[in-house]
Amino acid sequence: MRKKLLVGNWKMNKTIADTTAFGHASIELLKKAQERHIDIGVTPPYLSLATLVSINPKLIIGAQNVHYLNSGAYTGEVSIPMLQEIGVMWSLVGHSERRTYFGETNESCNLKNLALLKVGMTPLYCVGETLSEFEQGLTKKVIKSQIEVGLKGVEDIKEVVIAYEPVWSIGTGKNASKEIAEDICAYIRTLLKEMYGKESDLVRILYGGSVKPDNIKTYMAMPNIDGALVGGASLSVDSFAELIANI
Ligand code: PEP
Repeated sequence: MRKKLLVGNWKMNKTIADTTAFGHASIELLKKAQERHIDIGVTPPYLSLATLVSINPKLIIGAQNVHYLNSGAYTGEVSIPMLQEIGVMWSLVGHSERRTYFGETNESCNLKNLALLKVGMTPLYCVGETLSEFEQGLTKKVIKSQIEVGLKGVEDIKEVVIAYEPVWSIGTGKNASKEIAEDICAYIRTLLKEMYGKESDLVRILYGGSVKPDNIKTYMAMPNIDGALVGGASLSVDSFAELIANI
């Protein structure tokens, strides 16, 4: 039985002061989540990571991106040892905003996934098709290459968490139907089964894209959806609490 997982992606939101307030409130959120056997976490901007770790180290805390090399002349980047030093053990990889605005590719995601796994960190690997790919019926083709290239060389697949996030549903309020979300999450599991056999049953696959407190329940009822990656609705403590309550 895969444990449900709720991760809030804060994107470029919240100052350190905002994070401090959320961090204190997250102690109660975590208690509620534990009572309901749900794992919860957030991916704040880099500057807030250490603050959140110091306030609530039991929360899953992830970066939104990471470089695959340990150090070097890469202005503006943050490395895995830097995250480890402050106790951050997760990172998003390949979020669609990174792919769209910052040139992230399946190949660069692969390097990041491998580098994180090598040191025992958890990649939360994001995949999903654009609106034009969806309209052309290319969703499964796109997902197949994101999975096969992004996870090439990964041995211990159960250490990876995958998020299916159709790009057309992120921040748009146009969430995918539960049937579409389940169909693609099940497809991802089929691909993983071909690559890893029975281990694929242990991989948590999340849905993301305009998940809100009033629609999260429909997704969580689907057999291949093991949780949610939530942007906008994860920013307020009240909304986060409602998401937990409605899983
Ligand atoms: C996201 O940032 O991954 C996301 C799913 O955003 P939203 O919930 O706001 O659509």
